[in-house]
This record gives sequence, structure tokens and C-alpha cells, in this order.
Amino acid sequence: MSKYEITVDLELCDGIFACLVRDDRFEESEDGLVTLPDSDRDGDELSAVFEDDRLADAEDAAAACPTDAITVREVSDS
Ligand code: SF4
Repeated sequence: MSKYEITVDLELCDGIFACLVRDDRFEESEDGLVTLPDSDRDGDELSAVFEDDRLADAEDAAAACPTDAITVREVSDS
């Protein structure tokens, strides 16, 4: 199990949705861009922290994003 943060730069996101088919936590939002469950939005930055065994799915989604809008980084508890 890993703890990690997914960040999406919504200014870069172009609603292409390559991420959705790699990781179903990414969903289309009302504005036609992408959203994540239990996410926080700060300006154009969307972020959410997860603690599960799906880090590889998130990394696949980030790698598939043609605009490099998705960042995944592991976080520690301390
Ligand atoms: S793949 Fe990238 S550009 Fe496309 S919807 Fe997902 S975050 Fe946005």
C-alpha cells in the first residue's frame, strides 16, 4: 500500500480523457475537464491524496496524459 498525491494542472488539461481509461478515479467534470473523488481545488490545481494499492494506475494515467497535466508523487506520513 502506498500513500500518494495526484495533482492535475487544469490549465494544461484539455479534456482528452486518456487518463479515464487508465484509472477510473479520473472522471469528466461539469466544466468538461477532469476531476477526482475527494479532491481539493486551488485555482487551476486539483489535488487528492490516496492510500491504497493503485499507485501504478495513477502513474499510468499520468504517463498517458498528452499534455502532462497529471503529477503523481508519493507522500510520507511524517
Ligand atoms: S488525459 Fe490529461 S488532458 Fe486528458 S483529461 Fe486527463 S488530465 Fe486532462
